[in-house]
Order: sequence, then structure tokens, then C-alpha cells
Amino acid sequence: MAYVTVVFAYISGFFIIAIIANSNDVLLNGDYEFIDLTYPFDKNTVYWTDSQEFKFTKKIGVFDDDGFWYATNDFSAGEHGGTHIDAPNHFKVDGKYVGDITLDKLIVPLIIVDVSSKVNDDPDFELYKHDMDYMLNDNMGKPCFIVFKYGWSKFANDKNKYLGTRKNNTFNFPGMSGEVAQWITSSYKNVVGVGVDTASVDKGSTTDFPVHKAFAQADLFMVENVKLDLPVPEYGCTALILPMKIAKGTGAPLRLVAICPKRSS
Ligand SMILES: [Zn+2]
Repeated sequence: MAYVTVVFAYISGFFIIAIIANSNDVLLNGDYEFIDLTYPFDKNTVYWTDSQEFKFTKKIGVFDDDGFWYATNDFSAGEHGGTHIDAPNHFKVDGKYVGDITLDKLIVPLIIVDVSSKVNDDPDFELYKHDMDYMLNDNMGKPCFIVFKYGWSKFANDKNKYLGTRKNNTFNFPGMSGEVAQWITSSYKNVVGVGVDTASVDKGSTTDFPVHKAFAQADLFMVENVKLDLPVPEYGCTALILPMKIAKGTGAPLRLVAICPKRSS
């Protein structure tokens, strides 16, 4: 189906026929579905240890004398919690802030790299290049956002299991090696950002964060706590990666959505 609108115009004695691509067809023709890849922000939201947890204060909720309802609340939170973006500045002193990341990097093809069968629910799993060099879809060299699926969203309702919380406030959950991050930044220049369905792009037990450093150095943004508990096609979807536009943010809460072609049953 061609998603175009034909426009007739009469200018200076000539009929002009223009064919205008109409992006509204994506929304209205029913051939696409929207998949929400975002966790809600509430008292259960996972925050990194040095980030303030989500604080929601009910402020006003009243009926006035005429019976009309009026409500407003306050919230405050750290940058790095729930489904959120890490700007390069999180790990690179002169890296881009959240407010600097342009829309051409935030509305891009989505590639899901499903390694959950290799992880097999093992929190010690670390992804190396040999685990996946035959399966990385590079979107034929065009810009894309790659999300690694470790199969960890199923633990999201149990914070301690999800984070692999240990004594002395350390964590244990799967992640990729610095080798994989370096490989992506050197071999796949078209990748604009990388996401994971865990709390960090580095494995939970890391102490030196090689993955954050590699991606930040290459000016890639990262997305953590991607909600992948519903099936999402591994390619063919468009990602809308829309963080709160915190001008000088090292990170920000994010609404992450996939627009995917409807699958026939
Ligand atoms: Zn973060």
C-alpha cells in the first residue's frame, strides 16, 4: 500500500498535482501496532544506588463548590532509574547531555538482539563476541538502535532478583563484555544507541564499567530497564526513544515505544 496523499492545486493557469507522503497513515491505517517498552514510575521503580528514588507527592485533589475536580501532584527523582536514557556525558566529561541528543538519533529503526536462550536466567552471564557475531543485524548499515534482550524483564516484579542484590549493596545480573561494546562502536558506526532489559549496560557485578565507557566515548546513548516482557519483532519496528528533555541531564526518564507492523495471526 502506498502511503501518499494526492493534492490538486491550481496555480497560474496550471493544474499542479503533488503527491505528498502522509505520515498520519502510519497512525491511522491499522497496519501498525504500538508496543510500550517502558516501566511505570512509582514506588516500585528500580533506581541506581546513587540516584534518588521516585518520590510522588499527592498535593491537591479537591472538588470545588460547583463539583468540578481539580488535582495536581509533585514528583522528584534521580536521572538514572526506571526505563531511562544515559547520555554520553554520564561517562564522558565533554559528552553530549540529554538535551543535546537530536531527534534523528531518537526516532530510528529498532533491532532486538535476543540472547536470552544463551543467558538462560544465569545472573553471572557475560556476553562475548563469539556468542553473537553471527547474529548481529546491522540494519544494512543504516542508523539503528540495538536492544539486547537477556530475558530479564520477567524478574522485574522482584527488585532483589532483578538486580541480584547482594550484601554490601552490590549487584549481580547479566551484561555484555567491554569487548562486545568495543566491537559495536568500531564495526557498526551506524548504531546510534544501545539498550538492555536489565538495570545497566554493564553486568551487575562490574566495578569499572567498560561498556558505559566505550559507548559514551563513541557518543552513543544507552537505554536501561527496557521492558521486554511482550514479544517484539527483532527487526522491522521503529523505536521512539523520547526522554524528558533535561537540558544538562546525564540521564533522564524515558518513554520508549516501538511502532511495529501488525503481525498476521
Ligand atoms: Zn543510567
